[in-house]
Amino acid sequence: MAENSVLSRIQHHPDEGSLTFQGVRYLLIRPETLASVQKQIEAEVGALRAGELLYAGGFTGGQLSGRKYRDAFEFTERQAVEFMCRMGGEIGWGRFRLLELSPEKRLLQVEVDSSPFAVAYGEPTGQAVCHWIRGVLGGLVSGLFSTEVRAAEPLCLAKGDPVCRFVVEGQR
Ligand SMILES: [Zn+2]
Repeated sequence: MAENSVLSRIQHHPDEGSLTFQGVRYLLIRPETLASVQKQIEAEVGALRAGELLYAGGFTGGQLSGRKYRDAFEFTERQAVEFMCRMGGEIGWGRFRLLELSPEKRLLQVEVDSSPFAVAYGEPTGQAVCHWIRGVLGGLVSGLFSTEVRAAEPLCLAKGDPVCRFVVEGQR
């Protein structure tokens, strides 16, 4: 089995029933749980608004993590993005490929194979569904470059595309 640099350093605290990495708490949760929450929110407020709400959740995590690991490991912005992409795969969020990172253009493009959010969503749908990944990447760029961003998922497994693709553009 390939070395997993995150899982091998996760600490288990049995008294609390908690897992931490670099002092940050994580949890394992079945993707079906998240897909169920997503579908219920979609049924209440519609797919568009649901996407915005879930994006906001991912955004918070991405912004915190990007800054935290950049500072903890003294990374450059590029190293922080590469680390987050590797970590994404190592914590089961799908296999991330960094396609483009341009600090000048404030542009990030990432492809993800086998997104658990798309797989757990199940039924084919007309829209992209990986709002948490989109949010994490949006928050990552926003946090690292201190900018407002727009983040899109033009390709998604859930729409029948072969991969999920994310494009994050910072405002100037
Ligand atoms: Zn997707």
